[in-house]
Amino acid sequence: CGICGVVGHKPATPIIFEALRRLEYRGYDSAGIAVLNDSGDLERRRAAGKLDNLGAVLGEAPLTGITGIGHTRWATHGAPTTNNAHPHTTDRVAVVHNGIIENFAELKAELIEVGHRFASDTDTETIVHLVDHYLQQGLLPKEAAFKTISRLEGAYALALIFKDHDGLLIGAKHGAPLGVGYGEGETFLGSDSLALAPLASRISYLEDGDWCVLTPEGATLYNAQGEEITRTVHNVAFMA
Ligand code: GLU
Repeated sequence: CGICGVVGHKPATPIIFEALRRLEYRGYDSAGIAVLNDSGDLERRRAAGKLDNLGAVLGEAPLTGITGIGHTRWATHGAPTTNNAHPHTTDRVAVVHNGIIENFAELKAELIEVGHRFASDTDTETIVHLVDHYLQQGLLPKEAAFKTISRLEGAYALALIFKDHDGLLIGAKHGAPLGVGYGEGETFLGSDSLALAPLASRISYLEDGDWCVLTPEGATLYNAQGEEITRTVHNVAFMA
């Protein structure tokens, strides 16, 4: 029920973990974080139950990287197990998602048909396989994300990171809240100002149909037609 993402120059895992703490009030049944590790591969840790359970997993097996995404889940499709917890991944891409993908069954059937194997019972996993499918066809991450988002029906706030693309984070919003936080040499995605305010001095909120490409230097926002847009930037009064 909460999302956080970061591209910057500091260790991502503690930043994301603390942001997830600030999103706990929304309620959740499981949590997880994925980062790009030193080899450029996607690595994730997930745990059912309280964030402390995820904290314990991270204590045993730390996650090191500067590009990452995190999630607190309120299960809608698939039981609240570790296996259904986000982030969902393929070798090439990882996603966190709040909301419900209404047309996931059609998309999933289509992807299974072309050889994708699913590892969870969630609607969300469809997103990551669809992006992966377009990447395999030779599309760049930004193009694959746009093409995927264009095919999603339902409600979503989502964040994507890509193998071998340190410093790249893509977000999209339709019917669930998502904001972009601007820091100094680091940029963030978050479900609300509570997640973002201590990290960022300025915040923009995406509108339905908007999506965005983040790098440590800032963000480029697009509408559902793929046209570049601007949204009001709010100065944040309180910074940690
Ligand atoms: N529908 C997704 C799931 O069940 C996301 C739930 C959420 O908003 O946390 O995994």
